[in-house]
Amino acid sequence: MSTNTPTTATTTSTTAPYDELRAVLTGTVHTPDDPAYATLSSPWLLTEPMRPAAVVAVRTAEDVAETVRFARRHGCTVGVQATGHGAVSSLAGHLLVVTAGLDELTVHPQGWARVGAGVKWKPVIEAAAPFGLAPLNGSTSDVGVVGYTTGGGVGPLARTHGLAADRVRAFDVVTGDGELRRVTPEEHPDLFRALRGGKGASAIVTAVEFDMVHLPTFYGGAVYFDAHDAATVISRWRTWSQELPEQGTTSFALFQLPDMPGVPPALAGRMTLAVRFAWTGDAQEGRRLLDQLRATGPVVLDDATLRPYTEVDAVHADPVDPMPVVDPAILLDGFPEEAIDTLLAVAGPDSGSPQLLVELRHLGGAYARPAAHPDAFCHRDAAYSLLAVGFPEMGAAEHAEQIFAAMAAWDNGMIWPNFGPAHDERTARRAYDEETLAHLAEVVRTYDPDGVLQIGGFTRQVDGDAAAA
Ligand SMILES: Cc1cc2nc3c(=O)[nH]c(=O)nc-3n(C[C@H](O)[C@H](O)[C@H](O)COP(=O)(O)OP(=O)(O)OC[C@H]3O[C@@H](n4cnc5c(N)ncnc54)[C@H](O)[C@@H]3O)c2cc1C
Repeated sequence: MSTNTPTTATTTSTTAPYDELRAVLTGTVHTPDDPAYATLSSPWLLTEPMRPAAVVAVRTAEDVAETVRFARRHGCTVGVQATGHGAVSSLAGHLLVVTAGLDELTVHPQGWARVGAGVKWKPVIEAAAPFGLAPLNGSTSDVGVVGYTTGGGVGPLARTHGLAADRVRAFDVVTGDGELRRVTPEEHPDLFRALRGGKGASAIVTAVEFDMVHLPTFYGGAVYFDAHDAATVISRWRTWSQELPEQGTTSFALFQLPDMPGVPPALAGRMTLAVRFAWTGDAQEGRRLLDQLRATGPVVLDDATLRPYTEVDAVHADPVDPMPVVDPAILLDGFPEEAIDTLLAVAGPDSGSPQLLVELRHLGGAYARPAAHPDAFCHRDAAYSLLAVGFPEMGAAEHAEQIFAAMAAWDNGMIWPNFGPAHDERTARRAYDEETLAHLAEVVRTYDPDGVLQIGGFTRQVDGDAAAA
C-alpha cells in the first residue's frame, strides 16, 4: 500500500535508443506514444498514475537483465511493477519493467512452489489446493506474490504461520549491475536478507521459491455488526483476541461501503463493524470461539464458516477492481480499553469519518517470532496494525492523519514496508531501523553501484543522498 506522498525522481532520458533494447528482448518496449503504454503501466492503485519514460513488458529473466544493462549503458533508471497494488509515483520517469509476462507457476506436492514475478496469489492458491496446500498470501489474493513477499507479507494466517517472507527458499534476481543471480541463505546471504522485508532494494526479482502449509480448509470469514454496537463488540474482541491461541488470526474493520453492485445489501450505505477471523485448528473449536463474539450484539451478516482455503479472500473481503484510494497505516504498541473510545470518536458512527475502511489487525504469535534467517523486516514487536482506506477527494488522507494523531499514544513510530513503501526519507526511517537501513545501503552499494534501480525511490534514500534528490 502506498502513502501517496509526492516524491522527487531522477528522470530517465525519454530519447534513449529503445530500438537497441527491442533488438535483444523477447518482450516489448512501449513509449508514451504507443497505445499499449497506458494499459501496461496502469496501476491497481489509481491514485498513483505511472508516467514512466517507457514500459518494458518482459517475458524472461534475461529480458530483465538486458533492460538493466541497457539502462546502465544509457544512464537511465529502472523501476518495477507487477500489479500496481503498491504503486508509487516516484517510479515516474524511469524505465518501468512490467513483470506480468513472468508467469511461470509450479506447485510441488511436497509443499513448495516456484512462481515468476508476474504471478498473483490467486493462481497459486488454486494450484496448491488439490494437494491440500496453502501459501501465506495476504488479505486479497489479487496482490502480486513478489511485491507482497519482499515487503514481509502479513496475511490472514500471520499469527499461526508468520510472514510470507519467512517461508522463502530462494529468489532468482537481476541485480542493479545487470547480473542474473540465485539468492538463498547460502548464496548471497546479504541479498537474501535484504529481499525479505527490504522490498526490491538493489534487485529485481524474476522468480521466487517458497514453502507452503498444509491447510485444505479453515474456519473463518467475517461476522458483521451495526457500527452502533462497535464499542461493545470491540471491547469484547480486545480481550478475546488477547487470549486467542495462535491458531487464530483476527482483525476488525469499520466499513462504510457504498450501495452498489457486489456490496451485500446488509452492509451497503451504512457503517458496519466486521470481525475477521481465520482459524487453522479444529473447526468446532473455531466456531465455539467465534460464537463468543457473535453473542456480543445483533449480527447483521454472518459470513464465517468452515470453508476451503480457496475462499480465504472472504476473511478481509477486500475490493478486487482498481481503486482511486489512499491507504496510510501505522503500527501500534498496544490497544488498551481507552483506545476504543478514542478510535470510535474519530472513526466510528456519527464521527463524520469519510473512510471506506478503518482496520485494526491483531498481531503476535508466529508473526512476532524471528525468521530462521536474518531478514529486513523490523516490526515483530508491533502489537497491532492500524490502516485507513478512503477516497482522497473526500478528505481521506487528512482524516487518516486525524485518526493517527488521536491514536498517537499507542503509535510505535513504525510502518510495514508493504503499507508505506520507503520512497522518501520519512517512510524509509519509519519502515526500517538504523541497523537495517545500514544493511540495505551496503547491499545497494555492492549490487547496484551506479544506482540504476529506483524501486520505490528506496535506493537513493538508504544511500544517503535523499536531501539532494
Ligand atoms: C487491497 C490491498 C490489500 C493488501 N493487503 C496486504 C496484506 O494483507 N498484507 C501485506 O503485507 N500487504 C498487503 N498489501 C500491500 C501489498 O502487499 C503491497 O502493496 C505490495 O507491494 C503489492 O505488490 P504488487 O506486486 O501487487 O504491487 P506493485 O505495485 O506491482 O509492486 C509494489 C512494489 O513491490 C516491489 N516489487 C514488485 N515486483 C518486484 C520485483 N519483481 N522485484 C523487486 N521488487 C518488486 C517494488 O518495490 C514495487 O514498487 C495490500 C495492498 C492492497 C492494495
